[in-house]
Amino acid sequence: MANTTSELEALLMQRSLTDTELLAAAESSADFRILPEATVIKIGGQSVIDRGRAGLYPLLDEIVAARKNHQMLIGTGAGTRARHLYSIAAGLNLPAGVLSQLGASVADQNAAMLGQLLAKYGISLVSGAGMSALPLYLTEVNAVIFSGMPPYGMWTRPAAEGVIPPYRTDAGCHLVAETFGCKAMLFVKDEDGLYTANPKTSKNATFIPKISVDEMKAQGLHDSILEFPMLDLLKSSRHVREVQVINGLVPGNLTRALAGEHVGTIITAS
Ligand code: ADP
Ligand code: MG
Repeated sequence: MANTTSELEALLMQRSLTDTELLAAAESSADFRILPEATVIKIGGQSVIDRGRAGLYPLLDEIVAARKNHQMLIGTGAGTRARHLYSIAAGLNLPAGVLSQLGASVADQNAAMLGQLLAKYGISLVSGAGMSALPLYLTEVNAVIFSGMPPYGMWTRPAAEGVIPPYRTDAGCHLVAETFGCKAMLFVKDEDGLYTANPKTSKNATFIPKISVDEMKAQGLHDSILEFPMLDLLKSSRHVREVQVINGLVPGNLTRALAGEHVGTIITAS
């Protein structure tokens, strides 16, 4: 539409920035994906990285092999060290904005280690997952590593209760995938996917291969395998309308998921 920009401009001059008509006009241009060929992979902190060599080495071998055919943005979780920091800082009554920075420092540490392990393949750690040289790295070596915590820091919006930052590395990685309009979002953890209850504590838990955000909420699973605010982020995503949670401790799973196979639990926006 030739007129769209001027119509939008007129609305922007006259209306509130959350006006319904204005928002609709701002949506009317064609969909654009910045990195449509890339897959974002979140490597779990507690579930994978904290296992050290046993959890990581086989996975890194898969990543090195897979990058011949796939573009990957590899984000890190934080894990047990962050939980330890949260417990100390919360005990000291420090606010969510401070805890968020502490958590970020652990995700940074994990990203630094992955960066060293993958350095010999030319796979670099990019700071802040920002654009800068990221497209060039992707074009040249098909993969980069980034620290998964979203950089809200001091400006973290606190949760309704408590001081644990609600948007952590699951959310951070998903937001990268959504902002760049990536092809897929994979969460690599230590269970086959979502179960009806935590399989670590519930022997009768049964596996759920595919589920929507609303179904998860209805079944009381909103706070289980992914950080709970993730579900609303997914629901309002334009590009990444489903994510897959896979078991990274099973050799071959990551490679198969990158190829589009269903090997874990697919969580859909609608
Ligand atoms: P990350 O390492 O990415 O932060 P988490 O440890 O936060 O991953 O989340 C994965 C864990 O979630 C699993 O190890 C599992 O113990 C737990 N979990 C809780 N509820 C469920 C559920 N219903 N289905 C599967 N896993 C669950
Ligand atoms: Mg977690």
